[in-house]
Amino acid sequence: MMDTITPLRIIYREMWFASPIREPSHFKPKLCTYVIVHESGGPNCGNFADCCKCVKDLQQKDITSKGDIRYNFLIGGDGAIYEGRGWYKSSISIPEYDAISVSVAFIGSYTNQFLTTVEWAAFKDLINFGVAYKFISKDYQILGHQQFRIIPEVYPIYHAQCPGRHVYELLGALSHWNNRTVTIYRN
Ligand SMILES: [Zn+2]
Repeated sequence: MMDTITPLRIIYREMWFASPIREPSHFKPKLCTYVIVHESGGPNCGNFADCCKCVKDLQQKDITSKGDIRYNFLIGGDGAIYEGRGWYKSSISIPEYDAISVSVAFIGSYTNQFLTTVEWAAFKDLINFGVAYKFISKDYQILGHQQFRIIPEVYPIYHAQCPGRHVYELLGALSHWNNRTVTIYRN
């Protein structure tokens, strides 16, 4: 019944020396419709030690305001998947979508840098795994962070480059990519 599911190379929180969470994240329903893709910004990484440091630094940056690292998963240039909030907890990025999406960030900046082959493969493996084990619905949609427009635009360009074009262009070639702009009105 299942297609071949590639075992995931997951670097669990203990393995990247995550700090204890400061605020428990909200639980989300297990099955999500959306996969929202980000880049973490900052340096790219290509090996376990460097990627762990990036993830650890990102957690430190987020922990005060968001209680923990903001993403569900992060993917390194080394092709490993770093556990953020994992499958069961809500990410903190776009409040209207956090509970119905899995957020995945490629570690680093992708305006000039390209994804590595193993990094892109890991992303697709993660989604296939999520679909097979019913964390992601079969008719899921992929959206890049930059497709969200918040009205009124308080910080109009803060996520305009997320994920950078070398990721965003690849998303556009995926059959589950949704090309629409998602407009969210806030009072
Ligand atoms: Zn983003």
